[in-house]
Amino acid sequence: MGFEFLTVIFEVMSEKVNVTAPVENNTFKKVISHAKEYGFVFPSSEIYDGLQAVYDYGQTGVELKNNIKNLWWKTMTQLNDNIVGIDASIFMHPATWKASGHVDGFNDPMIDNKDSKKRYRADVLIEDRAAEYEAKGDKKKGDELVKKMARLLEASDLKGVHDLIVEEKIICPVSGTSNWTEVRQFNLMFSTQVGSVAEESNTIYLRPETAQGIFVNFLNVQKTGRMKIPFGIAQIGKAFRNEIVARQFTFRMREFEQMEMQFFIRPGEEMKWYKHWKEMRMKWHQALGIPVKKLRFHDHEKLAHYANAAVDIEYEFPFGFKEIEGIHSRTNFDLTQHEKFSKKKLQFFDNDLNENGKPFGNYVPYVVETSVGADRCFLAVLCNAFTEETVGEGEEKKERVYLKLHPALAPVKAAIFPLVKKDGLPEKAKKIFDDLKLDFNVIFEERDAIGKRYTRQDLIGTPFCIVVDYQTMEDETVTIRQRDSMEQSRVPITELSAIIGESVSFKTIFEKL
Ligand code: ATP
Repeated sequence: MGFEFLTVIFEVMSEKVNVTAPVENNTFKKVISHAKEYGFVFPSSEIYDGLQAVYDYGQTGVELKNNIKNLWWKTMTQLNDNIVGIDASIFMHPATWKASGHVDGFNDPMIDNKDSKKRYRADVLIEDRAAEYEAKGDKKKGDELVKKMARLLEASDLKGVHDLIVEEKIICPVSGTSNWTEVRQFNLMFSTQVGSVAEESNTIYLRPETAQGIFVNFLNVQKTGRMKIPFGIAQIGKAFRNEIVARQFTFRMREFEQMEMQFFIRPGEEMKWYKHWKEMRMKWHQALGIPVKKLRFHDHEKLAHYANAAVDIEYEFPFGFKEIEGIHSRTNFDLTQHEKFSKKKLQFFDNDLNENGKPFGNYVPYVVETSVGADRCFLAVLCNAFTEETVGEGEEKKERVYLKLHPALAPVKAAIFPLVKKDGLPEKAKKIFDDLKLDFNVIFEERDAIGKRYTRQDLIGTPFCIVVDYQTMEDETVTIRQRDSMEQSRVPITELSAIIGESVSFKTIFEKL
């Protein structure tokens, strides 16, 4: 595929996502094109020219995403004996969102450029300017700018935010002017009507986070699961936000998936658990194969109304370090609010003894939350796996592109090829395929030259290619090719299952946590 074609795909896709940031570098363009070309991600309803900031996962993408979700789920619920999972509905009683503060406060500050008529998030414009200072080596100036903005937002001083944009001479990347409107708050929740009559009382919201489904089920789970504090509830599910600007491909979508865990603890122990989960979550991203230098913590300047400490885990995307996960100490804000609005007690009776030898008694638990976007995690894994290499020498020299995915995350675990389409080789290969498919997601492929078949698997990150040749028919051995090193070795058919199984097992990741 020529580079021109890649660019065209990128332009088509980026128009759908209304890219307003400075044009991302070539690597990101290539990752986006690769995602589409090899069935990872498609623009939603593409035949109708797509829908802004909404994407569909294709045949390889869904496998990769499911593996990431599965891994997260098992990390939480299987490795921690005090964490259980739930699957709450997307629709919730509207009072939930009053209680949580989303109806009144889930806003982003927006600003329009009067010349281009383009809309921006005012805080993102300022953060981008701060990142520019940092990139030029003046981190202190960048930090001061972000702090100043945080103070203004904290004080709801929208005029101040506007003036800061003007002061910083921030211009619209489309019109090139600084002809800005005032800054206004914009609520990010999507609403719809339940039932057939359109009345205000019938208005419900598509959940903007999965966390509230956990809070309203706190007592159900605690009682029926006989859970003792500290314990956690995990959930994976869709969330919806009417993002003002959708950009950077699947990084900022209007419909996305979250993997959230709320950990219920004793009041006063929140900093201990906050530190614990910060470390655990950072280790998890590293265990997926993301290099340490591509990950960092970023403390929140402006704390959300419910939090007393908050940090992001950021990954260095081709367009810079950006949040993939948030870890928040949410105090007892949510449960207290739901007690108030529902008039039901959401407390725990703790009969363990405190230092004075008395039971801790009844209290509303505190909460430390870990919240990671499945789509952002997917994008980080994909960007990290995308590898371009020059291989061979002299005449043989060529460019090689492959996805260096952790085998446990790879969409397909092994591909089985008969060397030729005759002499019983396809039947033999099919037999191996039929055995392996009972344990692994494998594919059988007999079309095209063997080199082409290898390349196709490299492009989707398949860790092993198994070839059945004439020797197989004599001694029951096959060649197995490793994706990253391209090395081939001969192994008995009877060993295939163990070789693949060991490499693709989640165990290799769990052991690093
Ligand atoms: P941002 O500051 O980038 O808008 P946020 O701080 O509002 O993100 P949280 O509310 O902490 O995000 O949500 C937790 C996680 O959910 C984020 O770390 C991110 O991975 C994911 N997420 C949030 N919004 C989106 C979105 N619009 N598209 C994709 N993933 C998202």
